[in-house]
Amino acid sequence: MTSSTLVWLRRDLRLHDHAALHAATTQGEGRVHLAFVFDTDILDALPRQDRRVELIHCALQDLQAQLVARGASLIVRLGRAAEEIPRLANELAASRVVFAHDDDPYALRRDAAVRQALPQVQVDSVQDVTVFERRQLLTGAGQPYTVFTPYRRSWQAALRPAHVEAREPRLERLAPSTPIELPSLPALGFEATDLHRFWRGGSQQAQRHLQRFVQERLPQYASDRERPALPGTSGLSAALRFGLLSVRELVRAAQQAGGEGGQIWLSELIWRDFFHQVLHHHPGVVNGPLKPAYAQIPWVQGELAEARFQAWCEGRTGLPLVDAGMRQLRATGFMHNRLRMLTASFLCKQLGVDWRRGEAWFAQWLLDFDLAANSGGWQWSAGCGCDAQPWFRVFNPQTQAQKFDPDGAFQRRWLPELGGPDYPAPIVDLAESRLAALTRYGILKAGKASEDFVE
Ligand SMILES: Cc1cc2nc3c(=O)[nH]c(=O)nc-3n(C[C@H](O)[C@H](O)[C@H](O)COP(=O)(O)OP(=O)(O)OC[C@H]3O[C@@H](n4cnc5c(N)ncnc54)[C@H](O)[C@@H]3O)c2cc1C
Repeated sequence: MTSSTLVWLRRDLRLHDHAALHAATTQGEGRVHLAFVFDTDILDALPRQDRRVELIHCALQDLQAQLVARGASLIVRLGRAAEEIPRLANELAASRVVFAHDDDPYALRRDAAVRQALPQVQVDSVQDVTVFERRQLLTGAGQPYTVFTPYRRSWQAALRPAHVEAREPRLERLAPSTPIELPSLPALGFEATDLHRFWRGGSQQAQRHLQRFVQERLPQYASDRERPALPGTSGLSAALRFGLLSVRELVRAAQQAGGEGGQIWLSELIWRDFFHQVLHHHPGVVNGPLKPAYAQIPWVQGELAEARFQAWCEGRTGLPLVDAGMRQLRATGFMHNRLRMLTASFLCKQLGVDWRRGEAWFAQWLLDFDLAANSGGWQWSAGCGCDAQPWFRVFNPQTQAQKFDPDGAFQRRWLPELGGPDYPAPIVDLAESRLAALTRYGILKAGKASEDFVE
């Protein structure tokens, strides 16, 4: 039997600009098979209705349609990926397995197990998820960056066209196959969600979305991106999370667009790389703060913490912009970046609740949930991670609302009861809770408290 290669898709659910598929189809010989595993090590921990499982399902259907049109087919398995991939590689008599790196600690353990189970097979992992990763960018002293601005400068100085060139695969190398029927959601043990209300398709749809964003909204990105009531940002984070698009094509689009919008949008993409390398160098951020001293913050405990956390989750803190953001999250699986910063800061600063509880809530609900970005965003907001901001910054939800939702359109959209008797009074007094936050962070003692200010 001629040798074959197995490409294991994970967070790269597309056929274009695809590093693993490119490596498999441009090197070596023989046919190339494509597989996706619904990994029970991940799925077993999820509720039976999970929009992300359905999103993956939609993306795979799109992928399968593209493959079938070429006389090929996806292979789909349900089980422990660490066992299914070696089993499949043996069934196919594959001499090579290729996948893209993933620095999530679980993924690293799983991938190590796959390697170990396939001693006779060449197992290659390639870079795809970010433009720069791991130890590719280090400070002059050879250390990983923990502050964004110098990282961004170094990223931009190091970038060459080759870093973001499209990795187009030679799809004619795909093994011809009789198409399989993808397992239904119930067959995977899941029920349909309301995803169809705000999500369609897979990588082809995402590419059209990207084109529209670049043409219609990127020119105004600099001014509109901070306004949650406007469709000012790309809304592409979930597409990037699951690799329906490649980060390289987004960077190319930002470069081609240029202007202030293109530059600022590029900088957001660099944040993504930044947090991924932080996770790689500091896997402990999954469970605790990057700055160890901040593990000692005396968070509010007991019933008070419970009541505050519940009110925050349900969007009934009485602070309208916070509540609107929290309701947007539950209703759509998305929350605008400005509101992620505000709601996160409000939970751990004014409400005094341990940021890890909020981080877990976001992880449960975000369609774009990404361990590196979520942990980074939360620690930035809690002032215990990679922030260059003064740690005594406490966002004021009312000032933020005046600045970023001045006519209240976003707040009214998500809080129909606003202004009526059903909408609660604020659960904390903002001046008092700000002082409590400063005390909790030990800053009043140092006499360094400053006025609130917003970015
Ligand atoms: C507390 C908190 C938690 C967050 N959790 C996540 C998460 O789980 N997954 C996630 O993708 N983003 C997370 N972010 C970052 C950011 O809020 C989202 O990426 C952004 O809102 C997605 O909307 P967009 O695609 O329209 O963004 P755009 O403004 O169009 O930005 C383009 C892309 O850049 C990336 N990006 C933008 N801002 C950031 C950032 N601060 N950090 C990392 N990447 C960024 C995203 O991939 C995004 O799709 C979090 C931010 C905070 C403050």
